[in-house]
Order: sequence, then structure tokens, then C-alpha cells
Amino acid sequence: MLIVQKFGGTSVGDLDRISSVATRVAKTKKEGNDVIVVVSAMSGETNKLVGYAEHFSSNPARAEMDMLLSSGERVTASLLSIALNELGYPATSMTGRKAGILTDSLHTKARIEEIDPSVMKDSLKEGKIIVVAGFQGVNENGDVTTLGRGGSDLSAVAIAGAVGADLCEIYTDVSGIYTTDPRIEPKAKKLDKISYEEMLELASLGAKVLQNRSVELAKKLNVNLVTRTSFSDEAGTLITKEENIMEKPLVSGIALDKNQARISLMGVADRPGIASEVFTKLANSDVNVDMIIQNKAHDGTTNIDFTVPLSDLNDAKEVVAVFFKNNDISTESYNDKICKVSIVGVGMKSHAGVAAKAFSTLASQNININMISTSEIKLSMIIDEQYAQLAVRSLHDAYELDK
Ligand code: ASP
Ligand code: MG
Repeated sequence: MLIVQKFGGTSVGDLDRISSVATRVAKTKKEGNDVIVVVSAMSGETNKLVGYAEHFSSNPARAEMDMLLSSGERVTASLLSIALNELGYPATSMTGRKAGILTDSLHTKARIEEIDPSVMKDSLKEGKIIVVAGFQGVNENGDVTTLGRGGSDLSAVAIAGAVGADLCEIYTDVSGIYTTDPRIEPKAKKLDKISYEEMLELASLGAKVLQNRSVELAKKLNVNLVTRTSFSDEAGTLITKEENIMEKPLVSGIALDKNQARISLMGVADRPGIASEVFTKLANSDVNVDMIIQNKAHDGTTNIDFTVPLSDLNDAKEVVAVFFKNNDISTESYNDKICKVSIVGVGMKSHAGVAAKAFSTLASQNININMISTSEIKLSMIIDEQYAQLAVRSLHDAYELDK
């Protein structure tokens, strides 16, 4: 097999950790695989470099920041390559440029435009292990670029796609994706497999493991992703195409999002175009609206309720204030003590009763549901924040996710 193994900052956090990564990579090679390794900077290193720059300037040139920050990954890549050679496994380290990673010129948050894998392929043919410095590429002028913080996951997925790897393993200090956050429900279980779509909907459960951007790219390039820990031999979670998952569970996981706020507009003028005006203005202010409910009131006006991320609440309030002033809205209220509980599973597509079970589960706990929204593989409910843990736990039980 051709395997891409990516090691994050804590996995290469000190020299001992780099040694044990070398041992793991060597073992993978010994088992008969071709291996491309992608590394992050040692943990804390990128922040340290940012701090150095800030010593001189509060607004350093972005191109210079890319020169600076890309060095962290080069340190790890060369050290790991030295360690592998010492173990008797021929290895060679590569910068993003040598690995053929071409990006646009948006310094410090560049996008990969193309990968020319020919140099990597030649080295693989020579039997070498390749160690690529993650998080970086070059633009068409040959200037170094970086892919945005946490971007070495993206390097790994993009490389895996470009070389047609059988597997892209992302190693962190977390052992995989769980049915829910184990800090909320200790009975949470690690999933063996999950589809890209489910993973994207359960983003909050993977937040510490994988960037959503990387999952999206893996889906687009059809890369089989595995998230696992470098601190033990425990198997991780495979993120793959839905077709590759034979036994589809009804529900795969339950996500909780506490960073939600609800805005209620009452006495909204009931005329064509008002919703368009309100939500266009919100969009123009970069407010990310999630759920929306509109009801007719008795007096011929309507009520519109919607949710936004907590961080957008102040911007949303400013937009709404304008409509209030113009008498298009009679009263407004805000509630930031809410949360969103979401149940995600591809099995929902083909099975009835998933939603009914969620509602009756919350009802039996006396938890009131304020808002509901559904998509093909997700059911989300807005409830009072104080019931967050109770809701997650009772739903986890109801769908027998601990079994
Ligand atoms: N070293 C970079 C960062 O800390 C990239 C990465 O670790 O993925 O953001
Ligand atoms: Mg990282």
C-alpha cells in the first residue's frame, strides 16, 4: 500500500516523540508499504515564531511571515529524516516546493492549486521514505506560502490525493472520533468508520482532531482518512465514502454546540420582501444565520426567530436595530442561554422514526424544544443551555450509542 502519515505538533513535540514517530514510520515501511510522511512543527513552535515577529512589528509583511513560519515544519521534517536514516531506513525530507505543492499567492492563508508529485514519485521508486514539511507550498513566483494555521492536515490530504495513496493517516493525541464528546458522556464510544458527510455534520466532535477543510478536501479527492493517536497502537476512526460503510448505523453521533444565540423578532410587517431585506442585511454584515422559523401572529404581522453563532450576536443586533427604528419590527428579544443538539447518521435517509424518538426522549426528560431543523442526515434541536448535558446523555442512551 501507499500510505501518507501525518504527525501533528504534539506527536513531534520533543526529540523523544520524534524518535518514536521514526520507529512507527519505519515499521510501516518494513511491513512492505511505501510511505510519505507529512509533519507539523513541534508543538508551540509556530506560536513562538509568531511571537518573535511581533517583537519587531505588529503588522509584519505576510510574505515574511510565511518565510518565518514555514521554517518550523522544516525543522521537524529534517530531524525525522535524519532519525529514519539512522534507523537504517533511507529517507529524504522535502519542502513544500520540492514536493511540488503550488499555491495561490494569498500569503499566510494560501490555497493549494496543484500538486506535481513527480519528484515524490521518483523518490518512492528509489525505495525512500519521504518526509514533507507540512503547511507550506510555493506560489508561481517561487515565494514560500503557508496554508493557514493548522494547515498541515491539508498538506497531507492534498498529497494523498495527488499520489493516489490508499490511506491518509492523521496522527494526533486523540484516539479517534467518538459518538459524542466523552467529557459530556463518559459512555461515548469510538467509531470504527464514519462517512465524510457525517463527519462534516459532526464537526464539533472532530474539532480537536481534524479541520473541516481537510475533511472536505478528502471527500473531494476521495481520500480514505484515518484519525488515530501516535501515543499508542490503538486503531483509529476511518472517514470514508458512504458506500464503503456496510453496516450503516441509524445514528452515528450526537454533537453539541453551545455557541448559539437566538434572536426573536415580533410584529414584523407582513409584506413581500421583508425576510429578504432582513436576511440580506445580515448576510452583508457577515452574520451566519443557521435556523429560521417564521410564524403568523394574530394581528396580521409575523414573528421571525433565528439563530446565529454567539460571536455574531452583536453584529446581528445592530442590523436588527435598524428595522426596529423603521417600525418594521415591534419587539425584539435575544437569548444566548441556548444550545444546539444535533443527531447525525446516514441511516436517517432510509429509516422513519428517528426524529420522533429524539422528541419523545427529550419530552420524557421534560426538556422543551425551542426550534427544530432537519437535513437528510441531521436533526438539530435548540434547547435551553442548562439541559445540554442531560439531552446529550439521554439521546445517547436512546439510540444505544454505547452498545
Ligand atoms: N504548524 C502550523 C500551525 O501550528 C501548521 C500545523 O500544525 O498544522 O498552525
Ligand atoms: Mg495541527
